[in-house]
Amino acid sequence: MSIEISENYSLRPYNTFGIDVQARFFTRAYSHSDLNEAIAFAKSKNLEILVLGGGSNVLFTQDQNKVVVLNRLMGKQVEQENENNYFVGVGAGENWHEFVQTAIHNNWAGIENLSLIPGCVGAGPMQNIGAYGVELSDVLHSVEALNIHTNENHVFSLNECELGYRESIFKRKEKGNWIITKVNFELLKRPRFKVEYGAIQNELEKMNVDILSIEAVSQAVCQIRSSKLPDPKVLGNAGSFFKNPTITIAQYDQLKQIDEHVPFYPVSDLEVKVPAGYLIEKCGWKGKQIGSCGVHHLQALVLVNHGNAKGIELKNLSEEIIQSVHEKYAIKLEREVNLY
Ligand SMILES: Cc1cc2nc3c(=O)[nH]c(=O)nc-3n(C[C@H](O)[C@H](O)[C@H](O)COP(=O)(O)OP(=O)(O)OC[C@H]3O[C@@H](n4cnc5c(N)ncnc54)[C@H](O)[C@@H]3O)c2cc1C
Repeated sequence: MSIEISENYSLRPYNTFGIDVQARFFTRAYSHSDLNEAIAFAKSKNLEILVLGGGSNVLFTQDQNKVVVLNRLMGKQVEQENENNYFVGVGAGENWHEFVQTAIHNNWAGIENLSLIPGCVGAGPMQNIGAYGVELSDVLHSVEALNIHTNENHVFSLNECELGYRESIFKRKEKGNWIITKVNFELLKRPRFKVEYGAIQNELEKMNVDILSIEAVSQAVCQIRSSKLPDPKVLGNAGSFFKNPTITIAQYDQLKQIDEHVPFYPVSDLEVKVPAGYLIEKCGWKGKQIGSCGVHHLQALVLVNHGNAKGIELKNLSEEIIQSVHEKYAIKLEREVNLY
């Protein structure tokens, strides 16, 4: 066996909430053959596998009686190009923001709005990462994955991934069945700027940008994100803890009777999205701290670990928030973060 396996290993450095739980077994995989060894080892112990990238979208509520595999399959290269696109293949273990920077450096457009999202490339399709008007689904070509039960390799086309708002086949029907090994992107040779969303335009003006470039958009996004979101290295968190609920226009009309100021973003002719952060804030949670757990003082959508919070305490806090939003607004918030 060539992979190194540690037993009863602390996962604290491997989740951005900084929760101190132990993995029964822990290993790092740098290649397909490492992954196959980890799978064989898990089978021999009759244990499940849990794959981690950067641990920036998980909340551990207990020790993990599993084989935890840190996916470190690397590599990023243009595999094909045509008149309009670069087709870029990226190993699942590559750091997402470093990949965005490589894309900007090489003039591969399409992911500049997704700058500074923590974590690894392989987790991107899990919840169809998105920010500032762009989602992974806008640039995804296909996803290569290894089946944990059959060792089959499969290439999921964009359609097969069933991507939705923070959703995918990997998070639903096929949960726990696949290890994503490589993500294939279809990036643009000529940028299509999306700057109307989330104050990017204002930020570009502040930066005195006259000629738009993907680099300028990325810098603006980084600037906005750093001013609004807590840095997990300083304050443990996993970004947005809840999804923004999508409701029907009829439900929104009822909501307005409770609070006429509730903002909304159109999703379709029939549905709108409501900012969960607004609802949570209006229920009085913004900036609250209970023991070591808290709700961030600038962004109520983000739960934080002020020190030695336990995962179960953060889960309980999230349940109280869900309940109070439901009582006030009759809307049931869903968690975006994956609980284990
Ligand atoms: C400060 C902050 C800001 C954030 N902002 C955003 C944002 O703007 N938009 C957004 O969408 N998200 C955001 N997130 C959430 C998070 O960064 C993303 O979801 C990211 O893609 C998670 O990557 P990761 O490698 O850390 O995944 P992990 O937390 O390691 O894993 C997340 C899930 O994916 C699974 N998984 C991971 N890698 C693989 C793989 N190779 N194969 C199969 N399953 C896998 C894990 O088992 C787990 O279920 C933010 C988080 C933080 C802390």
